[in-house]
Amino acid sequence: MIVQKASVCPLDCPDTCSLAVGVENGQVVRVRGSKANPITHGAICAKVAHQYPEFVHGPGRLRYPLLRRGSKGQGEFERTSWEQALEVIHARVTAVIGRYGAQAVLPLNYAGPHGMLAGDSMSLRFFHRLGASLLARDPLCGGIRSAAYSATFGDTPGTPLQQVSQAQLIVVWGNNASVCNLHLMRQINAARRRGAKLIVVDPRRTRVAEQAELHLPVRPGTDVVLAWAIAVELERLGGLDHAFIAKHVLGFEPFMAAAREYPPERAAQIWGCRSPTCAPSPAGTRSPRPRSSPGETGSSAIRTAARDCGRSPRYRHSRENSAWPAGDWWAAPAGRFRRPPIA
Ligand code: SF4
Repeated sequence: MIVQKASVCPLDCPDTCSLAVGVENGQVVRVRGSKANPITHGAICAKVAHQYPEFVHGPGRLRYPLLRRGSKGQGEFERTSWEQALEVIHARVTAVIGRYGAQAVLPLNYAGPHGMLAGDSMSLRFFHRLGASLLARDPLCGGIRSAAYSATFGDTPGTPLQQVSQAQLIVVWGNNASVCNLHLMRQINAARRRGAKLIVVDPRRTRVAEQAELHLPVRPGTDVVLAWAIAVELERLGGLDHAFIAKHVLGFEPFMAAAREYPPERAAQIWGCRSPTCAPSPAGTRSPRPRSSPGETGSSAIRTAARDCGRSPRYRHSRENSAWPAGDWWAAPAGRFRRPPIA
């Protein structure tokens, strides 16, 4: 008999979907989304829905330690016990430390599952206690995106996903949202049912682009010119929030000076638009508030926010200055759950 158990997706994915896992004879036989998490709301990605039982129990799953017997690359391994595996690791690491010092040990790990308690919590403590070398591990994965985000937005928190559903204008910029950001799509669809406009900036005619009121098929690598053109157009239309800019934006004038070199007509020749319908839409760019910058995936959030708000590439924002209700921000609790390295 299949027993259904409540769970949460353990993969390295920030959505952390709630799951309903069917278990039979101690094995996962079925994985469905559950509505326990109101954001993910029963929708999960295809790889987990269709392949997780195979991932956990299939022949490719590594279930026990393997000890290499041949040379590296020969692929000769034999099964060993956990006790022996730990003994080998202990002996090797101890020998290296004894000969070269603890800093000869280099930790090369990353977040693993995105759990607040597990991510970089015990691993940092362990390697620090060992006296191992320090390695900036952020660039191994999302560090580039994080550096770009904080350099552009400072300590501005991201937009809570659920606020997208209240937006009147949604700009999806460089985000194949219907494939890679499925929980954002639910919010976008809710907003559109309320009459929100959807603009998509993407070289490809993605599914979300097909749903958009305006699709801007930029030539790859040229969307900064499009962003500049939109800023120029917003300025021409009087669509810039100068009070906000004065209070929160750094480098507004240099940014606009660069942008003014690329009015829409010039920009359109660069970013690849051949149709007049691709020109930035005054109606779209001046949509009344609330507006939203959907998605936190890679650089798309930065681009989307710059396009949507017409702000310069560096600004500060605070809860107090938000048009949104206080207490409803998504803000990563930096360091709150991370145990500091201990001596
Ligand atoms: S989208 Fe897929 S990988 Fe991400 S948390 Fe949900 S089920 Fe897991």
